[in-house]
Amino acid sequence: MTHSTPAIVILGQGSLATARHIQQVYPAAQIHGLAGRVEGADVVYQEFGTFLRELYQRDVPIIALCAAGIVIRTLAPLLLEKGAEPAVLVIAEDGSAVVPLLGGLGGVNVMAREIAAGLQVAAAITTSGELRFGTCLLNPPSGYALADLELGKRFVSDLLAGHSVRIEGAAPWLNQAQLPQDPTAQHLIHVGSTEREASAYELLIYPRSVAVAVSAGIADLPGAVRTALKQANVAMQSLACLVAESSEMAAANVREAALELGVPLRFVSGQGDVGALAQVAVPGAKVVASDNLAIAIAEHPLDVAHIGRSRGRLAVIGLGPGAAELMVPVVKAELARATDVLGYETYVRMAGPFRDDQVLHCTDNREEMQRARHAFRLAAEGRSVIVVSSGDPGVFAMAAAVLEALHESNDPEWHRVDLEILPGVSASLATAAQAGAPLGHDFCVLSLSDNLKPWSIIEKRLDLAAQADFALAFYNPISRARPWQLGQALEIVARHRTPETPVVLGRDIGRPGQTLRTTTLGALTPDQVDMRTMVLIGSSTTCVFSHAEGRQWVYTPRWYGQKPEA
Ligand code: SAH
Repeated sequence: MTHSTPAIVILGQGSLATARHIQQVYPAAQIHGLAGRVEGADVVYQEFGTFLRELYQRDVPIIALCAAGIVIRTLAPLLLEKGAEPAVLVIAEDGSAVVPLLGGLGGVNVMAREIAAGLQVAAAITTSGELRFGTCLLNPPSGYALADLELGKRFVSDLLAGHSVRIEGAAPWLNQAQLPQDPTAQHLIHVGSTEREASAYELLIYPRSVAVAVSAGIADLPGAVRTALKQANVAMQSLACLVAESSEMAAANVREAALELGVPLRFVSGQGDVGALAQVAVPGAKVVASDNLAIAIAEHPLDVAHIGRSRGRLAVIGLGPGAAELMVPVVKAELARATDVLGYETYVRMAGPFRDDQVLHCTDNREEMQRARHAFRLAAEGRSVIVVSSGDPGVFAMAAAVLEALHESNDPEWHRVDLEILPGVSASLATAAQAGAPLGHDFCVLSLSDNLKPWSIIEKRLDLAAQADFALAFYNPISRARPWQLGQALEIVARHRTPETPVVLGRDIGRPGQTLRTTTLGALTPDQVDMRTMVLIGSSTTCVFSHAEGRQWVYTPRWYGQKPEA
């Protein structure tokens, strides 16, 4: 069975030798060592619980060299959630025990055996059917679907109780299993795409060997697919994918039908009618066509990834300021599904760890339009592409560049890409939250960079915003190439604000070594600020008071003018 590259996680130096041994079984796997405790691991992680849960949620198989109890307690809160269930194994640090914990349907026992063989010990397999038959009958390989798990459990119990079995249909993966086969047995493993009512003595397995070619013009598409399959006597579970003409890539009803039917959607170009579409999609299959639907029935499971292509996806994501806990869950999910990740190297690295099958395209920070076009070219090939920004992608970042690239393009393929912008916590908001609520009333966000806009506009906006008594948030306050602009900006603000006006400086907020300072407009000088700093300047109502911890709270009240009666 194939599984994705596992992560080997160790807590102490004593486990490194065994970890290296396991790495010989999975050469692509990296050894992750706890910061400050392990020297010489491939990658360092900061906090065990957070790291392990993140791997789990990303569906990365986990090989942890530590006590089973630690792993169980760490992952327990995630186990009731529906979602990923990667294989999770614990290994004794001296390599003497291999214990598959979770992910029975994710091939954990197969991995346990592989690792145990590498360490020359026995795997602690606890699944009875698996022990007896050398395979998990209820976990057929990808491309096959079990008709009914509950009936299946009873069937396996019967076999464990001593009944023999016969196989009908093609089940190549069972060739090596130690099943008690007998051609006259009452118990039957049936593999085929024909719709069928399982008897009490049957384990029904459907190969995902059927594709349905559809067109966008059909009303109630999911209903039409179900009816057509029923009429053709084909089991729904055998449906491997829907296929449509490439020109219908952006059609909402085709997309929704695939979603509702729970199957992938593939696109093929330049076919006249659905019958031809089905034929091209699955060469050599038996095709049953009606006016507007065609069913292609193959002998074996379809290799869906090689039928035509999928609709490309492009997500412009915001990582938040840095800390993983400040990344929104949809962004995490998007990172897990991406095939390609584009962005400035620092941010791409911040978005990791990535799997080996994910391609990273790191570029210089200034090549934004080029990066946006590159992203569309990849997405138009059917890949699932991510463009990474820090903070929020819509705040002085990649989302606008990506939309600009699309707006300028006449390429219909680019316009059919499934484009989505996923938000993040912007630096001004992350900084404000740590300081209190300096942006608690009307505020104005400005970038002080004059790379893409004239300095005169910045001056005008600053002057008017300061005059209007907005609290101000400055992004890109200063850089080596723009040394004097911040000083000038502060002079403009000082025309409208007192020297006592509170100022918050947040540097590397949410990242290692973050600093937060509260000062005043009168005391602020440009040398206290660099390009990794967020500058927040209060309005005339912004106040400061001390915090029990010795720091200061800064806030701008919600009211303006006269305080309303309590
Ligand atoms: N899209 C980003 C902003 C990019 S502009 C966001 O929404 O946050 C880059 C500027 O953002 C930097 O010059 C700095 O002023 C600010 N910035 C970004 N990340 C920061 C962080 N972690 N701490 C403080 N300021 C940050």
